[in-house]
Amino acid sequence: MIKRNPQLAALKAGYLFPEIARRRREFAAAHPEDPSKPETRIISLGVGNTTEPILPCTTAGLVEGAKKLGTAEGYSGYQDEGLPELREKIAEVFYKNDAIKAFNIEEIFISDGAKCDIGRLQLLFGRETRVAVQDPSYPVYVDGSVLAGAANGWIGTGYEGIVYLPCTQENNFFPDLSLLPENSVLYFCSPNNPTGAVATRDQLTRLVEAARNKGCLIVFDAAYSEYIRDPDLPKTIFEISGAKECAIEVNSFSKPAGFTGVRLGWTVVPKELRYQTGESINTDWARIAGTIFNGASNIAQAGGLAALSVEGQKEIRQLSDFYLQNAALIRSALQKLGIACIGGDNSPYIWACFPGRDSWEVFAEILEKCRVVTTPGAGFGPSGQSFIRFSAFGHRADVEAACQRLIHFVN
Ligand code: PLP
Repeated sequence: MIKRNPQLAALKAGYLFPEIARRRREFAAAHPEDPSKPETRIISLGVGNTTEPILPCTTAGLVEGAKKLGTAEGYSGYQDEGLPELREKIAEVFYKNDAIKAFNIEEIFISDGAKCDIGRLQLLFGRETRVAVQDPSYPVYVDGSVLAGAANGWIGTGYEGIVYLPCTQENNFFPDLSLLPENSVLYFCSPNNPTGAVATRDQLTRLVEAARNKGCLIVFDAAYSEYIRDPDLPKTIFEISGAKECAIEVNSFSKPAGFTGVRLGWTVVPKELRYQTGESINTDWARIAGTIFNGASNIAQAGGLAALSVEGQKEIRQLSDFYLQNAALIRSALQKLGIACIGGDNSPYIWACFPGRDSWEVFAEILEKCRVVTTPGAGFGPSGQSFIRFSAFGHRADVEAACQRLIHFVN
């Protein structure tokens, strides 16, 4: 018989979101919805999946991309690292301001999504490299590291071998960088999933300084950068001087353009990046793309190009504004009930605090009393205990109804 990869056995049973779905199903079975009573319908503010349709100019790009493949002149096959036009457009739209020395297209790799690239990126480092994460953090950094062999079994609140950097109210949700191990890979997400916190320029400057002093590599996840409205907050790590020597950035069309089901993202790997032994990380990443990936869908890339046109960028703004308005509604409903929270102003997540309470218990109480699904903070790491993540991804009517029902939580 074939042997199971021991790293699969090392994973904690139940990935967070399937576990939430299981508890929701259990609750629904015990308390069935009554179609004649809308108040019995379960509403989800729990997941990060987008809900609104892709807007017209971007949709037209997808359609045109598909049509082109049916013509002799427009046909294209594998594009391992991505369509050159899209790589150029990304360099122009996201990385051409005064603070950034422009990237050339060999440094921008098109992916089928940020999550997929985060999984593949771990192949660059091998089992010996230590992994550090913000705590709480988006689960794929940790679970992907366990699968890649860089961390061992579950020891109650976290994985042995992963360094958790607490991000709490006390430190304003920015980690104590003295805890960052030397020569480690640090996964850092801003705007943050789940806390909604956005790192300031000063914080990112300190982060880059610490990474360079300690020989670390930052994997900067900017999947929510298009939700930043405050012009003083950096949208990319590359606005910080010195970042090209110590950071890789992953990003995605999922949350700004509604491409969660289309699948398109990109990763920036600067040519300056080197391993301890001097080899180029960029060259290795190109090798990995060619070896086990073969590139993103050409149709999705045509959609991505349309999303970055002048009209498409207006659509990105419109779509992210819609979810930010949802976030404002949720935030204000929580605040009216006296529940302290952060996030939701430059990010689609609101991180609500329930001091002294177990977050799975609060999750169950909100589900029972309000019939609203949320995400328990402890599922994102030990420092998420006593927090609940509310997601702004939902139809407006659902978000409004959920906000009204939250009153039942305190009554
Ligand atoms: N990064 C973060 C922080 C996310 O929250 C998500 C999705 O929820 C992703 C990446 C996934 O992006 P993609 O859809 O491009 O794989």
